[in-house]
Amino acid sequence: MCAFLNAIMLFFLSKIGALKMYKHILLAVDFSANTDNIVVRALEMVTQNGAKLSLVHILDHIPMPDTSYGTIISLGDESDNALLEQEKANLNELGDKLSVPESQRWLIWGTPKDEITTLAAQENVDLIVIGSHARHGLALLLGSTASGVLHHAPCDVLAVRLPHE
Ligand code: AMP
Repeated sequence: MCAFLNAIMLFFLSKIGALKMYKHILLAVDFSANTDNIVVRALEMVTQNGAKLSLVHILDHIPMPDTSYGTIISLGDESDNALLEQEKANLNELGDKLSVPESQRWLIWGTPKDEITTLAAQENVDLIVIGSHARHGLALLLGSTASGVLHHAPCDVLAVRLPHE
C-alpha cells in the first residue's frame, strides 16, 4: 500500500516538474571487486526513473590497441591482444546480465575522467553513476576518477561510496 502511494506521488511530482526524472544513465565500471555495489545503485536509479542505461569501461592500463576506429574500441572484432579481449568479455558479460543493448556498451581507450565525461556529453547522458573510494583522492572523500568526473561532468553525478577493497 505504501509503495503504491509512493508510486502515485512520484507520478504526480514528475508531471508537475517537481521531480527530476533521469532519462539516460551512464554507469562507469572498472571491474574491480566493488563493481556490484555501483551496479546495484545504477539499477535502482534506472528502475525509479524508467531510464535508458549505458555502460562504459575505459582502457587506461593497456597500450592503445591497433584499431581503425579511433579511441572507441569495437566490441565485435577480435584482436590478438589478450588483455583487450578480456576487457571486451567483461563488458559484454555485464551488458548481457543487465540487458544493455550492444549499441549502449562503450569500450574506450584513454583517461577515465576525460572519456567518461566526453561520452556523457556526446550521448546526452543526464546522470553518471560512478564509484568513490576513501583511499585516495580529494580529502579522503572521493576517488581520483570520481573527483575528476565531478569536476568535468556535463550532467549530474551519483558517486556511490565504496568500502575499502
Ligand atoms: P578510482 O578513482 O580509480 O578508485 O575509481 C572510482 C570509480 O571510477 C570506479 O568505481 C568506477 O566507477 C570509475 N572508474 C575508474 N576507472 C575506470 C575505468 N577504467 N573505466 C570506467 N570507469 C572507471
